[in-house]
Amino acid sequence: MRTWIVAGNWKMNNTIAEAVALAKAIKDGTATLKRGEVILAPPFTSLQSVSQTINDSRVALAAQNMHQEEKGAFTGEVSPVMLKDCGCTHVIIGHSERRKYFHEKDADVNLKVKKALACGLKPIMCVGETEEEREKNVTRAVVGRQVKEGLRGVEKINNVVIAYEPVWAIGTGKVATSAQAQEVHSFIRVILKDLFGDGAASNTRILYGGSVTKDNIGELIAMEDIDGALVGGASLKADGFLGIIKNIAEKK
Ligand code: PEP
Repeated sequence: MRTWIVAGNWKMNNTIAEAVALAKAIKDGTATLKRGEVILAPPFTSLQSVSQTINDSRVALAAQNMHQEEKGAFTGEVSPVMLKDCGCTHVIIGHSERRKYFHEKDADVNLKVKKALACGLKPIMCVGETEEEREKNVTRAVVGRQVKEGLRGVEKINNVVIAYEPVWAIGTGKVATSAQAQEVHSFIRVILKDLFGDGAASNTRILYGGSVTKDNIGELIAMEDIDGALVGGASLKADGFLGIIKNIAEKK
């Protein structure tokens, strides 16, 4: 049985003081949860403070990106070893904003996924088609390629989380219908079966991301292959984020 995950991607938002206050509210609001995983992904600058804030709670910490080397002359970059040192257990890799604005390719995503795993971090690997690709009917080809290339050479998938985030739904208020999302999630699971076998594929958590709110998560989470959510905008306010968690916890 797969345990649900709700991860909040704060993107480039929140000062340290704001991040700590939000993390404290999420920690308090999830204190009585019996199952499920809640993950917060603040910017690098507040990782350590958030880590201290959520210490001794069921909330885990993720970074939003990492470099694929452990150390060296890579000005401005942050390594997986440093992330672990700050208390991270997870790292978001291949978010569509990284792909779009920082030109990350499937091959970069693959290097980062492998390095994260080697360093003991759990990657949340993001995949998803653009609006143009959906209109051209190449969603499966694009998502299939991103999953296969991103996981190339990965031997065990048990520490990998996949996030299906249609690019046209991210930050736009245009959420995928539950049928659209389920269709791609089950397709991803079929690919995982081909790559890693039945057992591993059915244990892998596949999250939906793209304009999730507490009002629309109910329908999505009712779908068989949707195991939780990666949330951007709605993770920036405790009420909204806790509302998503509550709706998922009631249904899964
Ligand atoms: C995201 O950035 O991963 C995301 C899903 O953003 P939003 O929820 O704002 O669409």
